[in-house]
Amino acid sequence: MADLDHEPRGGGDSALPPRITIRDVGPRDGLQVEAPVAVEDRIRLVRGLVRAGLREIEVGSFVSPKAVPAMAQAAAVFAGTEGIPGLVRAALVPNARGAADAVAAGADELTSIISASPTYNLRNVRMTTDESLAQVVPIAAAAHAAGIGLDVVISCSFGSPYEGEIDPAAVANLAAACRANGADRITLADTTGMATPRGIHEVIDRTGPDVGIHLHETRGTGLVCCYAAMQRGVTRFDTSVGGLGGSPFAAGAAGNVATEDLVSLVEDLGVDTGVDLVALLDVCRDLAALVDHPLPSAVSSSGPRITPDAAILSDGGHASAPLSNPTA
Ligand code: ZN
Repeated sequence: MADLDHEPRGGGDSALPPRITIRDVGPRDGLQVEAPVAVEDRIRLVRGLVRAGLREIEVGSFVSPKAVPAMAQAAAVFAGTEGIPGLVRAALVPNARGAADAVAAGADELTSIISASPTYNLRNVRMTTDESLAQVVPIAAAAHAAGIGLDVVISCSFGSPYEGEIDPAAVANLAAACRANGADRITLADTTGMATPRGIHEVIDRTGPDVGIHLHETRGTGLVCCYAAMQRGVTRFDTSVGGLGGSPFAAGAAGNVATEDLVSLVEDLGVDTGVDLVALLDVCRDLAALVDHPLPSAVSSSGPRITPDAAILSDGGHASAPLSNPTA
């Protein structure tokens, strides 16, 4: 229900939730495809996100550094971000051994991935979906023994590059099977950018709204699909600061929905994120220097719709606008 002092502006049958929780996956999903960034810079990125108001952050993954060099020394990043009040630091783990390493490093939540696309699962982790499903049991056991939760991320929930359309009922059945094997939360991911608002509604109508949503901007549908998920009552979203992730500069692949783009959109709709957009854009500037290329997100390159200065400028804010070319 809406707070009296925070009435959502979605309106009518499209009423939106009064607030959402954003888990920033930039330090993991974003940086894993970049050239390796120093541990102290990864720690500074996490701390910057905390200063901007993020309270759930995927800090790293416990995978082979040979397979993913950018995620080496994840334990050191966890050590450097310990003891921040209210912060949930997630660790992506591929198996029970990774789960044990993540728990030892002090992770507050584990995430693991299974694919709704059988072929994608086989190619991605060389296991059948059933074998991946069985892996959920020991990973959940490791999490629960440490008193933390496991979020199983179901990739290709909205389509597969191999099988095409994925049956929404099959996604819902896989989500239920993951929960039966110990998953505390489920996140539906659109790894290859095939989600549309139709697909989002069809899947969430089967799973119910108690799921997270993890989308990529591959086909320009990421933000509108987040909106479609909010229309169905979803309140958990994975996004990446700067829109990093995937392979933003390779044809056919793109990064995650950018944290600043989602914050900019939904705050205007009266949906509270707890994130300070101006502080987040400071983090983006630092991040662009770290990865040494422009960030793919829209708001990090164009700036906020309304800057703090604009409200007090008599000329309507042009003095602080990044672009002043008089054109429609
Ligand atoms: Zn992603």
